[in-house]
Amino acid sequence: METIRSTMMPVPLSLNRLLEHAGRQFPQSEVVSRLPDKSLRRHTYSDLYRRTRALAAALRQLGLRKGDRVATLCWNHHAHLECYFGIPAAGGVMHTLNLRLAPDDIGWIAHHAGDRFLVVDDILLPLYRQFATAHRFERVIVFRFGGTPVAGEAATTEAAAGEAAAGKPAAGRAAGAEAPPPFEDYERLLARAPADFEYAAHDENDPVAMCYTSGTTGKPKGVVYSHRSTVLHSLSCALPDYVGLSCADTVMPVTPMFHANSWGIPYAAVMLGAKLVFPGPHLHPEDLLDLMQAEPPTLTLGVPTIWLALIQACEADPGRWRLPAGMRSMVGGAAVPESLIRQFARHGIRIAQGWGMTETSPMGSLFFEKPELRGSLGEDEWFARKALAGIPGPLVEVRIMGEDGPCAWNGRDVGELQVRGPFIAGSYHGEDPDSGKFTGDGWLRTGDVAAIDPQGYIRIADRTKDLIKSGGEWISSVELENAIMAHPAVAEAAVIAVPHPKWLERPLACVVRKPGAALEADELLRFLAPGFARWQLPDAIEFIEAVPRTSTGKFWKAKLRERYAGWEWP
Ligand code: ADP
Repeated sequence: METIRSTMMPVPLSLNRLLEHAGRQFPQSEVVSRLPDKSLRRHTYSDLYRRTRALAAALRQLGLRKGDRVATLCWNHHAHLECYFGIPAAGGVMHTLNLRLAPDDIGWIAHHAGDRFLVVDDILLPLYRQFATAHRFERVIVFRFGGTPVAGEAATTEAAAGEAAAGKPAAGRAAGAEAPPPFEDYERLLARAPADFEYAAHDENDPVAMCYTSGTTGKPKGVVYSHRSTVLHSLSCALPDYVGLSCADTVMPVTPMFHANSWGIPYAAVMLGAKLVFPGPHLHPEDLLDLMQAEPPTLTLGVPTIWLALIQACEADPGRWRLPAGMRSMVGGAAVPESLIRQFARHGIRIAQGWGMTETSPMGSLFFEKPELRGSLGEDEWFARKALAGIPGPLVEVRIMGEDGPCAWNGRDVGELQVRGPFIAGSYHGEDPDSGKFTGDGWLRTGDVAAIDPQGYIRIADRTKDLIKSGGEWISSVELENAIMAHPAVAEAAVIAVPHPKWLERPLACVVRKPGAALEADELLRFLAPGFARWQLPDAIEFIEAVPRTSTGKFWKAKLRERYAGWEWP
């Protein structure tokens, strides 16, 4: 019998296709960016399309070759979005640098990735200078918020574009010192780009972007996304039972574009023609609330710490802001306290918790309501379920690996959450594939301890490194934190394991009171008692000024563990 073959076209999945579609179908959709002076700059998708292709053409003219890494050191704004599509369109690989890391670490990461060019915001040039000697870029392209290029040819030198942007006089250089890389002005490059641009030919598995894990629990590792993984991730995010994106949405990505591609949402939003509102460098709660009034979003995304601060600012000044009616918010990257979900619900805002990692592109799971649950849950059960990490998307396989093999989905048995799928990393850039992060049978070991319930919802109990081992039992720091943050006088809380002579480790709760609130340890312990066994309760409560944050804005428990390493139990 004749063998049968698929009759479908073997057209590779391509990010360029998404850009073409957006440019043709949604020329009037908008991209709004908040500038450092807090004014708003508006572009249409027609501008986005033209400028992105101009960027790609300009990069080629500068000598960009296929596979070359172009780093970005930028806030969330339209030019960063142009890099998202323009660098891959030229055949390059966009590498988003995390501007909240220590300069030495940024330099190390840029070097490890082998970045050739850099696109940098003018207001971040002082940061760039602090790691410029750790890694030499061949060219530095400066995005100037002022917009107008510096006059004259000298604009392509560091003296004019760089120092002028930083408001400093050009510095003389010692003879023999390595020449600084030439500086280019972003707008000038675009204005001069050749008009006859054609996309670089590519395979669907060619790389488009890379991002390093933020190293909360170890050395940063490079994850490299492909055309294929990015397109599949975008399509998957957009599904109605997932993020449910459409061209009618106004999306405000508060998650930095250097943190796991702002959860992939900029790609998905452009694919569908959604309006985008970027907060630029202004991420304080009051600034975000102001922006929400000016350009009301229908969808926002960010880590829980940002939303905690935002709702507290909003409620501390009643009547000043109104949260946009019907807005939905995707919150993840760390456990989302149930109290936060309830607080937003009182303002008519739906929070959907997601779980993911830089390695998972990053959307691994997201909360949505299955029809069989509809109407069957009381209010408390409903909120408890919303505090779970949701359901994996259709292309993400999950399993819970216990000591004796995969665990049943019974909601009780916990083990390591392992994942696999076409937008999940199977290795790290420049690392031994046998790094211990991947199983022999091809799954990513997430380092998260979780259970899955019979309905398929994932409950993240903790990070392996954050679990508290008390005697022979494990205590979930996440559950304690959620319960503490439900107390009305608590602004934020982190629970850590502290070494204990008898029990190995015991929980210490670090609690931040709301401004002006009076709360003592005894009262808090009484508040927690009904929900926990006695041995699960923290042995001590420390009231602190603020919980330290990681470079991606999450609670930095490793820092707290360091602080309390010498803690003496009473
Ligand atoms: P980092 O490891 O530096 O935080 P990532 O941003 O890649 O870098 O974080 C991934 C990790 O964040 C996950 O492995 C998990 O521990 C945590 N995380 C993400 N979403 C959630 C969630 N909804 N609940 C609990 N933890 C989460």
